[in-house]
Amino acid sequence: AQQQLAHSQKMEMVGQLTGGIAHDFNNMLMVVIGSLERLAPALADDAKTARRAEMALQAALRCSDMTRRLLTFARRQQLHPEPVDLDALAGGMAELMERTLGRDIEIVIEAPAEPLWTATVDRSQAESALLNLVINARDAMPDGGHLRIHTANTRFSEATTAHGMSIPAGDYVLLAVSDSGCGMPPEVLERAFEPFFTTKETGKGTGLGLSMIHGFVKQSGGLIGIDSTPGAGTTFRLYLPRAVETGRAVGDSDADAPEQAA
Ligand code: ADP
Repeated sequence: AQQQLAHSQKMEMVGQLTGGIAHDFNNMLMVVIGSLERLAPALADDAKTARRAEMALQAALRCSDMTRRLLTFARRQQLHPEPVDLDALAGGMAELMERTLGRDIEIVIEAPAEPLWTATVDRSQAESALLNLVINARDAMPDGGHLRIHTANTRFSEATTAHGMSIPAGDYVLLAVSDSGCGMPPEVLERAFEPFFTTKETGKGTGLGLSMIHGFVKQSGGLIGIDSTPGAGTTFRLYLPRAVETGRAVGDSDADAPEQAA
């Protein structure tokens, strides 16, 4: 068992490392690929150099495939779920989010309407998911706007499926991020979670933010909902499983339901 633990810890470190490297590496690769693609027309008269540039492009594209696979591996890494108060988590990131958004975007973190349940999530993954949503919201509002974050207790009375994630009926904690930005047309919405899918110019977007969020939420046993209206704005809703509160009378109708394995 000791050995197994050491192994899984090692695998986790490898995963974190490769994930981080693959992410940064891909940013640079996108610059290389973009430049090589732009070079091609200028080399029309020089077959030999054009062939070399084409070989370099093919190699860069193969590298990009490799980072894609590395990221798939990294996303499968073990999370460390713990009960987290998502309202407090957002509150703790207020300053960072304000700095990220700049002066032209107003941010409101709405207090939950009732005492918020805790959610079982990996805290640092939840933080980076929220930050990624905020960065996307900023990019969708180049001329300024509003960003609203809100949390709420949510009960699903039946199993629900969306964007390749499915969850059983039960209690979830909602973390919603709404912006008044450009919104997404259906063809963007359809592909938004694809790794490396981006509508941003080379060097600005990696197309990995939403794919990482998707991996995190799916692994946490949650669900993502998106509402987006082109020209009006977008709302991302993350439903994360409610933490099982032991030793506390919650007085819920499901209090005597069989406990879920943690
Ligand atoms: P990136 O931000 O690097 O492009 P993401 O995976 O985070 O990668 O997002 C993929 C695409 O989804 C973006 O390029 C953008 O077109 C779209 N998108 C994501 N969030 C929003 C948003 N809040 N408003 C409008 N479009 C969005």
